[in-house]
Amino acid sequence: VKWTEGRGWHDAQLTPYAPLSIDPANMTLHYAQEIFEGLKAYRRPDGSVATFRPDANARRFQLSARRLAMPELPVETFIDACDALVQQDKAWVPEHGGEASLYLRPFMFANEVGLGVRPANEYLFIVIASPAGPYFPGGVKPVSVWLSENYVRAVPGGMGFAKTGGNYAASLLAQAEAAAKGCDQVVWLDALEHRTVEEMGGMNLYFVYGDKIVTPELTGSLLAGITRDSLLSLARDLGYESAEGRITTDQWKRDTENGSLTEVFACGTAAVITPVGTVKSTGGEWTQSNGEPGKVTMELRKALLDIQTGKAEDKHGWMHELG
Ligand code: PMP
Repeated sequence: VKWTEGRGWHDAQLTPYAPLSIDPANMTLHYAQEIFEGLKAYRRPDGSVATFRPDANARRFQLSARRLAMPELPVETFIDACDALVQQDKAWVPEHGGEASLYLRPFMFANEVGLGVRPANEYLFIVIASPAGPYFPGGVKPVSVWLSENYVRAVPGGMGFAKTGGNYAASLLAQAEAAAKGCDQVVWLDALEHRTVEEMGGMNLYFVYGDKIVTPELTGSLLAGITRDSLLSLARDLGYESAEGRITTDQWKRDTENGSLTEVFACGTAAVITPVGTVKSTGGEWTQSNGEPGKVTMELRKALLDIQTGKAEDKHGWMHELG
């Protein structure tokens, strides 16, 4: 779908996958006016296909668009485009039974040629798809994390809450630092004091205190994950208390050592839920749940996947069925 100043959205098309031809002066290449989303389509026991909360992705896409001075795509247009692609590629949605899915990548970028810094007058919205295998083919394994103090992902007033390529470009060096420390993932801290926990590379974090789960509050500099939001409700359905709050790195270490913080996990569209094992930081190193996936973590993981794959009742109306 195309957006042109004065004309709005027009020319929706379903076309075979093919390279785009880009002018060297395309404004996106220079000024990064680009946003994207990620969501999955799952096969259900009866063979039908459904996507998980595409309306939530559509609304987050609008928030991202507003932050990057781009036009907002109507929620229905976003969902219709995803639906049309999934219908077309239905054969690529993996069989019911595992955790495999068809991953959808909607994105929008400035499509105007020019070298001046200003919002573009033309944009393209495109959705592509790719089959995604199970995130953990050999069984769920805890990830090790590095608490980054040298780099920040986003600053107050910045673009942290938007899903834009620049945030991911900013994370690459920190991810390399985490790898050099022997860790799988970087954990982002607040920009000013490097004390408050924000999120992981491409996932949000949850802290399990017995039967209460807490996730970092939305400060404006972390992404409002749709999995994160879903778990606030799902945990309550399962009898846990759930809350948003502020967790500092000192507290993380102290509460693990005194036994009150029983598990930590990360959540996002890609891995659904991933246990956190070893934590490394300038303030020391410690391990959650003896390096094993925690009980609450795995219970929530199963509950969410069961809804997504159609094995459990969808009480919240999260699944968007395509037939
Ligand atoms: N934080 C970041 C930085 C991410 O890239 C993602 C993945 N979209 C998430 C959190 C998790 O969000 P969601 O649950 O919507 O996939």
